[in-house]
Amino acid sequence: MKRLSNGVIFDIEHYAIHDGPGIRTTVFMKGCPLKCRWCANPESQNTQPEILYNRNLCTLCGECVQACPTGSISIVAGQRLLDRRSCDACSRCVDVCQQDALEICGYSLDLQSAWNRIRDDLIFWDRSGGGVTLSGGEPLMQPEFTLKFLDFCRQNKVHTVVETCGQVPEEHLRSILPVVDIVLFDYKTASPDKHKQHTGVSNEQITRNLIALLKGPSEVLVRMPLVPGINDSMEDLMAVGDLLSRTRPGAKFELLPYHRLGEGKYEKLGRNYMLKEVTPPTLDLLEAAMDVLSGYGLSLITPRIGDQN
Ligand code: SF4
Ligand code: SF4
Repeated sequence: MKRLSNGVIFDIEHYAIHDGPGIRTTVFMKGCPLKCRWCANPESQNTQPEILYNRNLCTLCGECVQACPTGSISIVAGQRLLDRRSCDACSRCVDVCQQDALEICGYSLDLQSAWNRIRDDLIFWDRSGGGVTLSGGEPLMQPEFTLKFLDFCRQNKVHTVVETCGQVPEEHLRSILPVVDIVLFDYKTASPDKHKQHTGVSNEQITRNLIALLKGPSEVLVRMPLVPGINDSMEDLMAVGDLLSRTRPGAKFELLPYHRLGEGKYEKLGRNYMLKEVTPPTLDLLEAAMDVLSGYGLSLITPRIGDQN
């Protein structure tokens, strides 16, 4: 039997209710081809496991400096520094830190081990009409594992959802469709220039994949983060409404209000948060956006009130 490569996962959320119908177990996979400036899961972007450091818990005891086999950690002028280029995420520093100031984000699991971590939720899936959602990061950055995992769920009669940013080869997206019940397609803007400016990548492949998907029979929910000052203009919303209504009349669509819940993770990763000046959309802005979109005959899902705070 051919050996299946492991999946690199960074979190598993049990009893999730926002990533598909019913009560779900969401498996977050590491690696994303986009670098959205508003990303609430920046720890998902790197494909490899990495270290999160909570400065507020650190006592500068120096134990991690001694434990690190690659000499990646130093304490200089009262600051603990990590050279992420030489760190191989061996996790020895995490093991010796008595303050829980360090954690490893990302671990490799084979198919059976991943299943073992979620299978006890079966009773909740069955009773609620829920199932398993693969999210990330971008699950299709790990196409072989994602396909096998979804297929395994399907063989066990578990409802499956995949969340994708669409920046993946079309054949990878197509390969999973027979074993996916719902695709959650995150679409940021119809403008290639704006997309490149705010995510690092043009949206040409994403838009091609979205159109191909919407022209086929798959159940698709298109979701768009609404980020004030970036993609909330009348022009932005009309372009998305027009694209969707022309491609699949009545397409399902949901706005996801921008929030800043992920901001603290940037510091733990040694990165700057880029949208410090942006505040979550007000209710008035959300209503105005919904008004614009309502002219396109889409099946609009009401934004989750409270997410914008
Ligand atoms: S072992 Fe923990 S508390 Fe000590 S210096 Fe390292 S991160 Fe800080
Ligand atoms: S994970 Fe390993 S290599 Fe990286 S800083 Fe910690 S001890 Fe050093």
